[in-house]
Amino acid sequence: MNILAFESSCDETSVAVVKDGREILANVIASSADLQSQFGGVVPEIAAREHVKVITAVIAEALAQAACTMEDIAAVAVTAGPGLAGSLLVGVSAAKALAYAYNKPLYPIHHLAGHICANFLCDPNFDVPYTGLIVSGGHSHLVTMDKEYNFQILGRTLDDACGEAFDKIARALGLPYPGGPQIDKLSFAGDSTRYEFPESHLQNALDFSFSGLKTAALTYINRAKMQAEQKGINWTDLLNINDFAASFQAAIIRTLVKHSEKALKLTQARRFALAGGVAANTHLREALAAMCRKNKVDFTCPDRILCTDNGAMIGAAAYYLILSGVKPTDSTLNAYPSWSLDQWKSLPQINVR
Ligand code: ATP
Ligand code: MG
Ligand code: FE
Repeated sequence: MNILAFESSCDETSVAVVKDGREILANVIASSADLQSQFGGVVPEIAAREHVKVITAVIAEALAQAACTMEDIAAVAVTAGPGLAGSLLVGVSAAKALAYAYNKPLYPIHHLAGHICANFLCDPNFDVPYTGLIVSGGHSHLVTMDKEYNFQILGRTLDDACGEAFDKIARALGLPYPGGPQIDKLSFAGDSTRYEFPESHLQNALDFSFSGLKTAALTYINRAKMQAEQKGINWTDLLNINDFAASFQAAIIRTLVKHSEKALKLTQARRFALAGGVAANTHLREALAAMCRKNKVDFTCPDRILCTDNGAMIGAAAYYLILSGVKPTDSTLNAYPSWSLDQWKSLPQINVR
């Protein structure tokens, strides 16, 4: 079954063709990240306008790369939420138009279900049930997926998302957007024990909080900037940026690994999956793989290109949504900027008008 899948929830316009939830026939990604980096982050209005500009060409390119026509497509899938309303609406409108014009069933997909289902594309042995960690620009979730493809959320961030913490600290360090890959790179040449960061202790041991860590990091940076100004020197002479990046990243990874291990103990799952943009982080991948080896649990994590936003992950999620027996939607489909993952098989009641 070939699924034509759309993803446009943030600043990537992506269209993919995925066969049977496992095989990528095409995965075309156009990103406006370079344009957004001039503003230090995603400007929703610009992101939406860029989607409109490129989406027709991206669809054509995806079909061409897959050597498919619409005749070869069995279903159309689209990220319907969560995400930026204006951005989501571009993908939703394009998917609705194609599904209607070619009389194909249309499936709305939850963006985070897409992120974690990217694992089906990378490892032929990956299967339900599993426990997983989704760490992205806007979310941090510990989840389990059962045999009926239902999600249960075990823990979530109470404040900043993990990727957001990376991006905000990178910005304070004067690094370009998105900051996660920059911190990842800098940390290779850094001493991760040089700077100390606090650990959060929450009521639910599987929840996350990154705001204390962020405040501690900003305090280091602002203090260095102030003292440097008084001394008339460069602040990077007072704060070693490689050591700082490595220490900050290590503090985040410690928390993620610890909570993931606790989640595995709770669920007794034999498989663990990592997903979301932050899953591209080299040190996080290694640390979680080591934790899973120690616990004799299979570890899966998508290829880097499938960690950040892409259409193929939406095509994979759609296949498993269809397998679970969910009926297609119709042209009343809307964008759902705050759709909860545990309800991924049914659209939320409140939508954008
Ligand atoms: P969400 O999926 O929550 O809606 P999003 O779609 O904007 O958010 P993703 O594309 O999933 O986010 O991920 C982007 C995030 O991943 C950014 O915060 C970015 O800094 C982070 N990221 C990407 N590569 C790395 C890396 N190597 N190390 C750490 N963070 C990274
Ligand atoms: Mg992006
Ligand atoms: Fe995402």
